[in-house]
Amino acid sequence: MGREIYRVPLDFNWPLRKVWQGFLNPYWKQCAHCGGTGATAGDRWFNKWLEEFQISATNPTDANRNARAKELHELFVALSGEPKGVVLLEWGQTFSLKQKLLEIAGLPGWGRCTACDSTGIDAAVKAKYEAWEEELPPEGEGYQLWETVSEGSPISPVFPTKETFVDYLVTQGYSREAALNFVEHGWAPTMMMRDGKILNDIESCR
Ligand SMILES: [Zn+2]
Repeated sequence: MGREIYRVPLDFNWPLRKVWQGFLNPYWKQCAHCGGTGATAGDRWFNKWLEEFQISATNPTDANRNARAKELHELFVALSGEPKGVVLLEWGQTFSLKQKLLEIAGLPGWGRCTACDSTGIDAAVKAKYEAWEEELPPEGEGYQLWETVSEGSPISPVFPTKETFVDYLVTQGYSREAALNFVEHGWAPTMMMRDGKILNDIESCR
């Protein structure tokens, strides 16, 4: 998500770039046993080891690179059953490698925090946290630009009409065509790739 239009009252004055209070779950409290990660210390260590091994294996300045890359690759191929042609160890592959190792060890649930059932949320507030529902900003006649890269916050003044809002977007460097389409759609992604060019947020509506 990237940009969105909210129709708010003309006198709506929530501070710019501050996440709207209705979007923040007040019951969030991280599990003290796993620090909110949902994993045990052993799992965090294992992931770090895998990550470092992988970085080392793909780092051209590491003298042991080829040996390590070969070793890890062979282990991966042997355990995962993936075709031999797979050389690059993507994150998803190290994840499946880990799952396979745990399966072989007969420890399918190893590494998961039992205190929070691997959710990372304090068990005492979990029911309230999950029952909470977000509250949208008040509705009105005005047009306002919001960023939705975070939970959501306003980033422009409130405009009384569609036309003044489009004019404002044009002064912010967007093409009129993109601004008009954006007002019709009501939202725009963070960025889009088209014909080899990167179009940022509202401009991707062109
Ligand atoms: Zn936990």
